[in-house]
Amino acid sequence: DDRTAELQRANDRLTQLNQSLVMAVTDLDAAQTEISRKNAELEQLASRDSLTGCLNRRAMYVNLETVFAESREQGSELCCVMIDIDHFKRVNDQFGHMVGDHAIQAVAACLGNAVRLTDIVGRYGGEEFCLVFPRTTLAEAADMAERLRICIEAEAGARVRTSIRLTLTVSCGVSSTKLGAHTPLELVDQADKALYAAKESGRNCVMALDTTLA
Ligand code: GH3
Ligand code: MG
Ligand code: MG
Repeated sequence: DDRTAELQRANDRLTQLNQSLVMAVTDLDAAQTEISRKNAELEQLASRDSLTGCLNRRAMYVNLETVFAESREQGSELCCVMIDIDHFKRVNDQFGHMVGDHAIQAVAACLGNAVRLTDIVGRYGGEEFCLVFPRTTLAEAADMAERLRICIEAEAGARVRTSIRLTLTVSCGVSSTKLGAHTPLELVDQADKALYAAKESGRNCVMALDTTLA
């Protein structure tokens, strides 16, 4: 009768609405997933240096703030190594900026391959890198820097395609929270001072912060 038919129509309509709702929720889920993916992509773009894939300076400092605070809480030693390619202007002048860029990438690759997952590798500026080693002593960090220096001297130049074999070397400066830095900035500044000393003493070497000068 009329009443049953009316109820049936209402029921059909309800089923239809329900199906549309399920579809809308599915679409919303897909949109959410897409937004999350885009956010991760943006985060990656904002924190990574596009040439090397290393953290950029800002992101390096954000990460350093975190591990610096952790080292304070745990009373553990934290080290910073500043690395600068030697006579890099010559590479650019002799081979051009493209090769210069490849040289920076080659050095970054050596660094990235050698460090632990918990270490921080940042591209600090043009041909300068800043590494941070949590729960590491000054002696261990200096050893690590020396291994990186040797690896770069042996391998980085060969990774760059040029007519004559390129030799790339770096100088490294090492500092530790045990040497009195109160802030991340101070720790980096101390590593930079040590780097300057490494350059002064002839380049292609590692120098730890001289506390008598700090
Ligand atoms: P030193 O041994 O004292 O470090 O000598 P240097 O020639 O490396 O000295 P300096 O730091 O003054 O020069 C760095 C040069 O790196 C200057 C700049 O033109 C170049 N540079 C900086 N960023 C880039 C980059 O992204 N690509 C290339 N190809 N060159 C860069
Ligand atoms: Mg420099
Ligand atoms: Mg340099």
